[in-house]
Amino acid sequence: MSRGGSFPIDLGLDPEDLVSCVHCGLCLPHCPTYRITQEEIASPRGRLMLMAEVAESGRADPVFIDAIDACVGCRGCEAACPSGVPYGHMLETTRAALVESAGYQPWWRRIGYRILEHPRLLRASSRILALVQRTRLVPSRFALPPIPLRRTRLESSPRGTVWFFTGCVMDAWMGETLAAAKRVVESTGVEVRVSGDAAPCCGALHVHAGLEAEARDLAREVMAALDGDGPVLVPSAGCGAQLKEYGHLLGTSEARAFSARVLDVHEWLVGRDIPLRVGPQPAEPPPRGRPVVAVQDPCHLRHVQHAHQAVRTVLEPFFELAELDDAGLCCGAGGAYSAAHPSEAAEIRELKLAAIDRAGGDLVASANPGCMIHLRAGGAPALHPLELVDRAQRGLL
Ligand code: SF4
Ligand code: SF4
Repeated sequence: MSRGGSFPIDLGLDPEDLVSCVHCGLCLPHCPTYRITQEEIASPRGRLMLMAEVAESGRADPVFIDAIDACVGCRGCEAACPSGVPYGHMLETTRAALVESAGYQPWWRRIGYRILEHPRLLRASSRILALVQRTRLVPSRFALPPIPLRRTRLESSPRGTVWFFTGCVMDAWMGETLAAAKRVVESTGVEVRVSGDAAPCCGALHVHAGLEAEARDLAREVMAALDGDGPVLVPSAGCGAQLKEYGHLLGTSEARAFSARVLDVHEWLVGRDIPLRVGPQPAEPPPRGRPVVAVQDPCHLRHVQHAHQAVRTVLEPFFELAELDDAGLCCGAGGAYSAAHPSEAAEIRELKLAAIDRAGGDLVASANPGCMIHLRAGGAPALHPLELVDRAQRGLL
């Protein structure tokens, strides 16, 4: 495809979906890219109009690619839409068509997605990155968290009745967070099987990038690894949303049955007996008074899984909670969005940080690794909700 001109394309979108937008604009305040640009082409309504035009003409151009690429994929618009426009699936289908027709996704992004598919390769690359990071040669615009030189290994119980899905980046970069979340699950008296290297990346970033064939292969591998019929607990909102969408992605009864087993880890914890104290307590307990925690809802927990209240239910016995007043506006992390569009991601994050400031609080809870990393890079004291619970249980908060 020549970047200079138009090219033929079949978007493969459902004609009924294409006419479902009534152009009311109610989604606009919920769209982070519209909020920072105030441009129609950067809004859900503008993108849907472009999709309809391209579907009708059968031709797309670089302006269309840029408009689709600039979407965070947060699905805030979908949650706000009174007409039920299935924007998220339309975006994924459009990006997949662009991959087929226009080689959408440059080679350097594709290498990144390939690395995610292989846990050992990801860990080896992460070790190199960790060493380079310690030389301070990594450009600060990438805003990476401190990457550990060694992976935190999680013990797996062969007698476990529930699966604990560790994912790819979280497993390589945030082992301590995973260990804390696992301890909280185990504090309820259950034994868990850890997915570890047996299950590769969930494929969420691949789907968002339009790499559907690769995402389907990953989905089949994950399903084969997490055998049995017990629940699959997911501590990452983005991965959980993807595992719950395997039924849609693969369209098989086996995939639908698998997706029905998937729970965000907080959903599973609701209604269980989570002890307030676990293990030896520090000689000098922290000062009395419960810390105030501002709750940031990751888009894929709130808009896709609709499981964000479960986080509050789990946190409430331990903390005072402070609510943000931005109706779940995206923080700008957006999977690979913050790497592909760092300045826009930072601009969107400023809106979120302002909402966090207004809410007040000592700490921020965020149930998605990408959001946590992005918020911390902006200076917010963000931790996974179960990291907070784990610290409180051990008398460290
Ligand atoms: S998915 Fe998010 S960024 Fe994309 S159009 Fe919808 S609200 Fe805007
Ligand atoms: S996507 Fe929904 S909320 Fe947005 S303009 Fe269309 S109908 Fe209205």
